[in-house]
Amino acid sequence: MIFKKGTGMHFVDAKGILHGSTGFPSMNIYRGCTHGCIYCDSRSTCYQFHHPFEDIEVKQNAPQLLEQTLRARRNKCVIKTGSMSDPYMPCEEALRMTRSCLQIILKYGFGVSVQTKSDRILQDIELLEEISNTSKCVVEITLTTYEDALCRIVEPNVSDTSHRIKVLQEMKKRRIPTIVWLTPILPFINDTEENIRGILNACADAGVKGIICFDMGLTLREGNREYYYAALDRHFPELKERYIRTYGNSYLVPSPDSEKLMRIFHETCEKNGILHRPEDCFGFMQEMPKKFEQFTLFE
Ligand code: SF4
Repeated sequence: MIFKKGTGMHFVDAKGILHGSTGFPSMNIYRGCTHGCIYCDSRSTCYQFHHPFEDIEVKQNAPQLLEQTLRARRNKCVIKTGSMSDPYMPCEEALRMTRSCLQIILKYGFGVSVQTKSDRILQDIELLEEISNTSKCVVEITLTTYEDALCRIVEPNVSDTSHRIKVLQEMKKRRIPTIVWLTPILPFINDTEENIRGILNACADAGVKGIICFDMGLTLREGNREYYYAALDRHFPELKERYIRTYGNSYLVPSPDSEKLMRIFHETCEKNGILHRPEDCFGFMQEMPKKFEQFTLFE
């Protein structure tokens, strides 16, 4: 099935579906991504893609695997999805794999934390609300670029910032807590006080629970560096040369204004009662409500 010129998908049977810590396991239903963010780390060669990044690998047995796994697990926990591949890409419209997995999570009383840049998540808002009301649901939205016109260059195939802010507001109406990923911030592109304040004010208005920001900058390594530099050449003439002069082949690419911008970030969050230390945000995301701890004790 083809959704966009030059992109498609293929189907595989996965061996397992939950990975990482048993207390906060991670699930990726799709592999690869069609959202086209110019800075995408997931396309780095270290992740060993054996197919084009935009040719989406669909783990077609993900719902069955998830059901088998959750049926066998005694301890309830929050399952994280969306860290390596967006669960609400265009292919989700036809496949509804993410939706099927959410229904299984609801059925077995587990929690979920969903990370996306797409307002397609709104099509599952009732389901997310039900999970939120019965166990735990967190919606994680990435915001990098306040101005929509610039956002459409940096993150071309996905909902622009104003639509993502709308998602945060809709979640607030349903009392579903939200976490924002304020990352990456691109040196000489969106590392301005105006951009950071615009995003932070929108987050405060939308009542977000926490904002994750490790530093004001980005990371570049083999695979994503080449892709990023090609995008710079297309959209920001001469910026690639400035990056090479400033950062060489460094993995960490911090904004020269990082210190000032981080101060604004911490102060604004503090003033608005928003969690801003990464460990507090992660702690909140993975914590199951107390009633479930009791439940598993006497299970
Ligand atoms: S949404 Fe995430 S995985 Fe997809 S292209 Fe953007 S950064 Fe990469």
